[in-house]
Amino acid sequence: MAFLGNPSATNEILNKYNLSAQKRYGQNFLIDSNVLRKIVESAGVGKEDTVLEIGPGIGTLTQYLCEAAGNVICIEIDRQMIPVLEDTLSEYDNVRIINEDVLKVDIEQLLKENGAKSVKVVANLPYYITTPIIMELLEKDAPIESITVMIQKEVAQRMQTGPGSKDYGALSLAVAFYSRAEVMMTVSPNCFIPRPNVDSAVIRMDRLKEPPVEVRDKAFMFKIIKGAFEQRRKTLTNALSNSVSFKTDKEKVAEALQKMGKNVNIRGEELTLSEFALLSDILGQ
Ligand code: SAM
Repeated sequence: MAFLGNPSATNEILNKYNLSAQKRYGQNFLIDSNVLRKIVESAGVGKEDTVLEIGPGIGTLTQYLCEAAGNVICIEIDRQMIPVLEDTLSEYDNVRIINEDVLKVDIEQLLKENGAKSVKVVANLPYYITTPIIMELLEKDAPIESITVMIQKEVAQRMQTGPGSKDYGALSLAVAFYSRAEVMMTVSPNCFIPRPNVDSAVIRMDRLKEPPVEVRDKAFMFKIIKGAFEQRRKTLTNALSNSVSFKTDKEKVAEALQKMGKNVNIRGEELTLSEFALLSDILGQ
């Protein structure tokens, strides 16, 4: 078994299995052992931990995780990677490989089946579905303690912005509601094969025990938030009356905004998290 984390080992594995990186699956393989070590360190993985890895690819980060963690569960969509993973992870008996689309897996059920009470998610995510994966991990009630992921640097910035920024949206509101987030490092395209067209960053999100704002029904609030940002340039009253995520009468939204002391022509991107919580409580009454 080759220890991965450098260009020649990665190329050797890809050649051995006659594979090339699949663009449609967002495959950019890590080839820098320093970055790999720092990801594991940033996630604070120890022998007491179960780690869920999304997209192990040829198993590079997985090897580092298997060394550091008690148990590793990894979910890989690409069937061609499974024999490779069985090879590169053959020396580890603390890893389970699942060939599935992560967005179709019931994570809560999977973790229960594996007897995992608390889990750290660690991944070099496929960039084409970063947002749905993170939203799913945050919104589901699975026992996830923290999420440490490599993502596009721009998306990491978007995740930490507030009202008034063009990048403010459902993702940044979900991150603020569910977690405390910190960018741990930025990573150059040279650390991957093939090189991505963008800079990357590793962000760590620690799940909050209590959300920073009180809201009666968080699922209802996030329906409103998603509706508000589906057509972000529209006023909130128009966006919500035309939304697919959340549909309500214009008048009801206008009335709620008036109760909140807000202008009825305000756009969703101007509301803070606590204002969305208040709006949700009023509309839900
Ligand atoms: N972990 C490896 C590394 O760091 O070198 C590969 C990371 S690569 C950026 C993303 C991985 O996610 C690929 O292996 C890709 O096949 C996998 N992937 C893409 N879409 C997926 C999905 N919907 N569910 C599970 N895995 C997926």
